[in-house]
Amino acid sequence: MELIFELSKRGRRSYRLPKLDVPEVKPSEFVPEGYLREELDLPEVSELDVVRHFTKLSQRNYAVDTTMVPLGSCTMKYNPRINEELAEIDSLRDVHPLTPEDFVQGSLRIAYELKELLKKLGGFADVSLQPAAGAQGELLGLLLILAYHRDRGNKKRKVLIPDSAHGTNPASASICGFEVVTVKSDERGEIDWEDFLRKLDDETAALMITNPNTLGIFEGKVKEMAEELHKRDALLYMDGANFNALVGVAKPGDWGVDVMHFNLHKTFSTPHGGGGPGSGPVGVSERLKPYLPVPQVEFDGEKYYLDWDRPKSVGRLLSFWGHYGVWLKALAYILSWGKEIDKVAKFSVLNARYLRELLRGVLHDPFPDSPCMHEFVLSAVNLRKYGVTAMDLVKRLLDFGFYAPTVYFPLTVREALMIEPTETETPTTLERFALAVRRIVKEAKEKPDLVREAPHRTPVGRIKEAEANRKPVLKFRP
Ligand SMILES: *Cc1c(COP(=O)(O)O)cnc(C)c1O
Repeated sequence: MELIFELSKRGRRSYRLPKLDVPEVKPSEFVPEGYLREELDLPEVSELDVVRHFTKLSQRNYAVDTTMVPLGSCTMKYNPRINEELAEIDSLRDVHPLTPEDFVQGSLRIAYELKELLKKLGGFADVSLQPAAGAQGELLGLLLILAYHRDRGNKKRKVLIPDSAHGTNPASASICGFEVVTVKSDERGEIDWEDFLRKLDDETAALMITNPNTLGIFEGKVKEMAEELHKRDALLYMDGANFNALVGVAKPGDWGVDVMHFNLHKTFSTPHGGGGPGSGPVGVSERLKPYLPVPQVEFDGEKYYLDWDRPKSVGRLLSFWGHYGVWLKALAYILSWGKEIDKVAKFSVLNARYLRELLRGVLHDPFPDSPCMHEFVLSAVNLRKYGVTAMDLVKRLLDFGFYAPTVYFPLTVREALMIEPTETETPTTLERFALAVRRIVKEAKEKPDLVREAPHRTPVGRIKEAEANRKPVLKFRP
């Protein structure tokens, strides 16, 4: 397939601007010297060239629109098209962020209502919609914890994080200047209670958990953990990336969680994974409410407004208000489910449990006695004797038309495969997926080279992951 640059023919156009009916201004009159390039080497192509080129490119990839993407922890569910249409309504999309409040009451109301719904769903005293993604939500959560302890004169500098945590958790804690203390997991895949108690001391600022955790297992002692922490004036952070397993069924605020980020793009349906905007609102308990960023969108019974009057606020995270398009999609998604939103959680758990049953005995299950929530982790160690790894297995899955599950995470499970089917897949698709995995396991035994050298049916074969990132070869010949 040719690069778009190779399709280029000088003078070929897809679009022509109307004739200029105002005085011409030369770019050099308003662009400072040194910033202007006379010739931009852009491809010149017809409209049909553009359509064909990008349609072909899109067909060379895997996407939720074409296949199941069981990428654990990422919640790659189908995102209803209607949400996109709402996010594209001109009068919402084209509002300038500095428009006076009186003229954008509707836009503010949308933000306010989303905030109120997230408060309700999470059981929180308040929510900030500002963070741009989950990881920035973590950063905000830890900044709030820092502000809380500073305000009380507490000299606490340690954050406890279980060894199964997502890499962003320790990264966020370190960026905030905390010292990360790792807590072990036990044989059931939960936080080791004894190790937690041993490591919890007066210097502990917070515990950062994920619930259900990254093994897909529910942390059954979450309330007891909150109690132990609060006794020592330490706080409980919950990574809400796995909120899909809970939405409409359980409220982390009720367990004593002090702060949690929501990944709107995961649970509340915005396409993600391609680098598009996300959104990571943060819910807090009463303890952390005074420190939330400015501005907060509020309603005084008559008017929606931005509240800047928060003397203890940590300030702001973004130059503007947040990712409005993602908020809109999340609100549309929540309202379209209405009171039945618990079905999202219930069917995501049911699907994961069904698929796990279908794969029982096929791959090694490191926590056979712990029921899973919306995802589960299996291990390909049983294929080692054939010289086949988890990576080989998922590469071969591509040949069967499925996107790969998350591999080698969490770090606590050898040859880990983390599988999250989400609620939007039908049982038929799950059965087909399980059948493909069974076939590959059989191949590993009988024709291990076929698996080791996979994929065979994709536009490019096995690439060296690190090198391909550093020295990308954009042109390939199928
Ligand atoms: C996705 C994820 C994050 C990070 O969220 P982003 O929105 O990608 O920044 C954090 N923790 C867990 C467990 C996740 O799955």
